[in-house]
Amino acid sequence: MKRSRLPSAPAVHQESPHRSFRHRPSNIVIQAFLDHVRATGRPETFEGLFWGKIEKDAEFVKLKPFDIERGLRPRGEMVPCPMCQPNKFLEGSLIWVPSLQVMAVIGHCCASAETRIRAHEEYEKKRVRDEDETFLMAELPLVLRRLAVVKRVRPIAVEARRIHGQLRTKGDPIHRALRNIKQQQGGRLSVSERIHHEPGWEGPRGLRTRDGDVDVREIEFGSMEGMVALIGDYEPVRELDEIERRLIPHAGPATEAAALEYAIELGESGRRSRAVVDLREADRTFGKFVARLNDFRAFFGASNFRRLKEWADHPRNPRRLQVLRSARAGIVTCALWGDGYYFTVDIDPILATELPEWPRENAFSEHEIEGAVLSSAKAS
Ligand SMILES: [Zn+2]
Repeated sequence: MKRSRLPSAPAVHQESPHRSFRHRPSNIVIQAFLDHVRATGRPETFEGLFWGKIEKDAEFVKLKPFDIERGLRPRGEMVPCPMCQPNKFLEGSLIWVPSLQVMAVIGHCCASAETRIRAHEEYEKKRVRDEDETFLMAELPLVLRRLAVVKRVRPIAVEARRIHGQLRTKGDPIHRALRNIKQQQGGRLSVSERIHHEPGWEGPRGLRTRDGDVDVREIEFGSMEGMVALIGDYEPVRELDEIERRLIPHAGPATEAAALEYAIELGESGRRSRAVVDLREADRTFGKFVARLNDFRAFFGASNFRRLKEWADHPRNPRRLQVLRSARAGIVTCALWGDGYYFTVDIDPILATELPEWPRENAFSEHEIEGAVLSSAKAS
């Protein structure tokens, strides 16, 4: 029968290989296409178009909208849309897809703005979900080990809290004074020395007074270390509590398979993004805990106390402050005292313990994951 011998759309496509467009197709090409469609009603027979599958989220440039007279179509069939389904449209757009370097036609079904926005939103949602799942798969099996780390460092945090509390209460005036130096001078320790010049001094002049010239010279001792010790609300134990609060609800899955199951469960109950936030926050808070604890420990270190002592003992320092640090049989004693206050503390050696690594064994950095996904997408 004559009808059945009409070439079906796919046969036509196989016969004409598509042409590669590295750049936006020229107006001559576009006009040729429009003329062809007006004359034949068959975009399928215009040479060089791409008829393979185009992803819904593919970026494209609309070259020209067109419509086809139904009467020109064989058997009244519509044109297949490479973005959604065959036999779809009579009203569509000629497009250029830069990622594929091809020119193609798609139906109004996929070319319209609302459809594009909806497709983009769906794509974004799926992208976020995929990213979250990849993240959870890598991170969930680490939760138990991370909780074990928190447990191990807790005694160090408890000791840091005890020392900080004593410094703040018993050493109150000097704690506040050093905090002022931190805030106003960035922690720079110095004393001012007035140099008096006899009348007739020819050098650079500072303050001129009745009996001669006075220059003020700053004697510098360098900056304090460990200025976390000087803040009012350093709460290392609370930082660990926060990490546990984030991690405990997600403790359990120890293998990737169990993590996958749990990730799916989280998704179904609408808690997936919450879980991602919890794990990221726990991670961030531990980083902050380590940085602040290391800084806190540096305050009580030998070099910082040596600097404090040099500063305090300088004859031009108007403060009445005594500084002492001694280490005997592994016990470090630090003391700061002056008018009406006396701070001294024996520091438990646990404070100096090396911190365990935060478990990351299975986790790539986000950048690496992204790179791996991209290269596997390219390969497929
Ligand atoms: Zn479509």
